[in-house]
Parts: sequence; structure tokens; C-alpha cells
Amino acid sequence: MNKFNIIKDREKKLHCPMYGRYPLAVKKARGYKLYDFDGQEYIDLLAGISVCNLGHSHPEIVQVIKEQAEKLIHVSNLFYQEEQLGLAEKILGTSHFDRAFFCNSGAEANEGAIKLARRYMQKIKNQNKFEIITLTGSFHGRTLATLTATGQDKIKEGFSPYPEGFKIVAFNDIKALKNTITDNTAAIMLEVIQGEGGIRPLPYEYLAQVQEICQENDLLFIIDEIQTGLARTGKFWAHQHYNLKPDIVTSAKALGNGLPIGALLTTQEISEAFGPGTHGTTFGGNALICKVAEKVIDIILRDNLAEQARVKGQFCLDLFSELKNEFPDLIAEIRGAGLMLGIELTFPGQKVWANLLKRGFIVNLTQEKVLRLLPPLIIPQEELVGFAQNLKEILAETV
Ligand SMILES: *Cc1c(COP(=O)(O)O)cnc(C)c1O
Repeated sequence: MNKFNIIKDREKKLHCPMYGRYPLAVKKARGYKLYDFDGQEYIDLLAGISVCNLGHSHPEIVQVIKEQAEKLIHVSNLFYQEEQLGLAEKILGTSHFDRAFFCNSGAEANEGAIKLARRYMQKIKNQNKFEIITLTGSFHGRTLATLTATGQDKIKEGFSPYPEGFKIVAFNDIKALKNTITDNTAAIMLEVIQGEGGIRPLPYEYLAQVQEICQENDLLFIIDEIQTGLARTGKFWAHQHYNLKPDIVTSAKALGNGLPIGALLTTQEISEAFGPGTHGTTFGGNALICKVAEKVIDIILRDNLAEQARVKGQFCLDLFSELKNEFPDLIAEIRGAGLMLGIELTFPGQKVWANLLKRGFIVNLTQEKVLRLLPPLIIPQEELVGFAQNLKEILAETV
């Protein structure tokens, strides 16, 4: 039996079977490449689902991990830690916010945002507001509250009863949103570009109206930037393409370039709702991860990775549009911003996805028909050309 089959077999006996794994065991990852146990090389166009935006094992990140691990890893949030403040200063500096909270994952950041919105309404505003409105097709995490907030049935099945106080309205439908708001509504939460949902951008007019509705109705506007943040879409935060001023932004994925961290950003006024003892986490924002995340932000800003994402993304949109012209019956739509790109096929994409993998290109297939690309932002342009060429050959065989 080869190494891959041995690993696959062991996993079957050891791990809960919730993951539909790719037929690939990764031995090593560097930059924008993965390597399996047979020494085969893969071009990574997924970056651990928009996590390793700087590329795998970025040498400066490895160095920070080593240095900080020798000094201080974790002492708990019972103590003051300078590393947390260094990161807070850096991340707040990329935004219009002035308070940060660090946790361990995206779901936990969104859970924190939901709790903060409710507590702000109930304790600071003295109003009985608790409902959170989200959109169909959204993805906000897999804790009970965040899966209830998620607008996709497939991740909810079998987990009832669900926590109360969540309403889901149709994507990009202002009327439906207005009709759903009640005296009990606390917040609207959305992704500027839905990721898991198939790389679906919301139009600017819709987003501007949501912000207006929030202001008119005294609701909090929460933007989930867990996938779109950290330069992925061509700006540091995706909402900055539109000059939006949300009340809370959540982050995770790329913030640690592979080490787990989540974050919630908000204003001083709203943050007051989280008094001592109201919310927290044991691991969240420990010295090691904060030092790493601070370095991640330093590198993104120094190397102007947002601009790199923007330029390479535009390059890809042009390349893929040519493909769409060539195969109008096979490609339904090209969507995205920066290096957050979706190629929607007109047919289930499993075979195309598998064929790409066989040729050494790792992409994700979401919503059955959408090839989702979230490459490391450092990917060289010629690899993107190589991908387009291979996809062209595969589509040509499909006709
Ligand atoms: C990945 C993701 C989450 C969940 O993050 P986890 O770290 O897996 O809990 C939430 N929202 C969006 C938009 C995501 O892409």
C-alpha cells in the first residue's frame, strides 16, 4: 500500500468522518506550492481557504514564531500582554475602528459579534433588541449560533433546535430586508462578497442602502470579513472598496497566516457593552499568535499585497473572461474581486475539479458548480496563466 492509502486508512479508524477530503495527503508546503508523499508538486490556488495569504511557511513568519516561542507563548487573559496591544494598534490602524478583541477562529469572532450586538442593545441602549438578520447563501460558522445565522440549510440539518433570534432574508433584496426588521432587530450581518456561498459580490447600491437602513433604525451593521479581509480582494478590508462604515467587523482566516486567530473590531462606544467578565476566551490573543498576526499585517502593508491582489485579480478576470468567450456553453459567469475569484460552470464541476487536481492545480469547488480560487497573494502571474491554460484544455475535452 502506498503512503497515501495508509494515511487514508488510519484516518478512517481515528478521526470523526465529517470531512470530504481531497485525495491528497500534504507532506510539505512552501510559498504557493504543496508537495505530497510521492514528491509531486501542486500549485496552491486555495491557500488553506484564504488563510496563507503570504504563502506557506513565509520565512519571516517562521522567524517570528521561533523568536516569540522562546520568549512568551501563553499566560492567559488574566494578565496584561504587550503583544496583544501591538497587534491591536496594527489592525485598528488599517480601519476606522478603535477597539479590538481577539479570539481563536472565525465562528468565535462572529459569535462574539452577535453577543456584542445584543448586549449593546440591551445594556447600553436599554432596548429589547436581539434579532440578527443575515442573508441567504451566507456562511458565518459552525457553532450553534453561527450556523443558525448561516443562510444555507445543508450545514444545519440534524442540529435542531436552533437558538432563537435569527432571521434570514433573500440575498440582494432590499425590500425583503426592510420587511424583516422589527422592534426587536439588533443587527444586520453580511459578507460583502459571499465566499462559501459561491463568490457572490453584493452590489454597492445594496450595501449603501443596508448601511442607511441600519442608521435609520438604530441597528448595528456587522460585516463578516473573515474570508474577504487582509488584502484578499484588493483592499485591506473588502468594505473599504465602498467607503462603508460598519459598526463591527469580524476577521480570522488570513490573520495568522496559518496559526489560529479570530478578531472583532468595533468602536469605543459599542465596546463598552463588553464589561469585565462578560465575554472572553482562554487562548484568544495569546502572545505568540499576536506577534505572528502583527507580522502578517506588517508584511501585507510593506509588500503592498492589496495592490498585488488587485492587479493579479484583474489579470485573472481578463484571462477567465477570454475562456468564457471561448466556452460560452460551459462557463456561466466569472465573479470576484482581487484574488477572490469564482468561475461558475453551467454543469456540476466535480470532474473539472478532479482533472485540475490531477494536473497539479488545487482549487475549491463550492455550490457544486463554482470553481473557487483563493491563491496566496504572492502567487506569480505565470502560474495563473498556467492554470487558465490547463482549464482551457480540460474544458476543450468536455465539449
Ligand atoms: C471561514 C468562514 C467563517 C468561519 O470561520 P472558522 O474559522 O472556520 O470558524 C465565517 N465566515 C466566513 C465568511 C468564512 O469564510
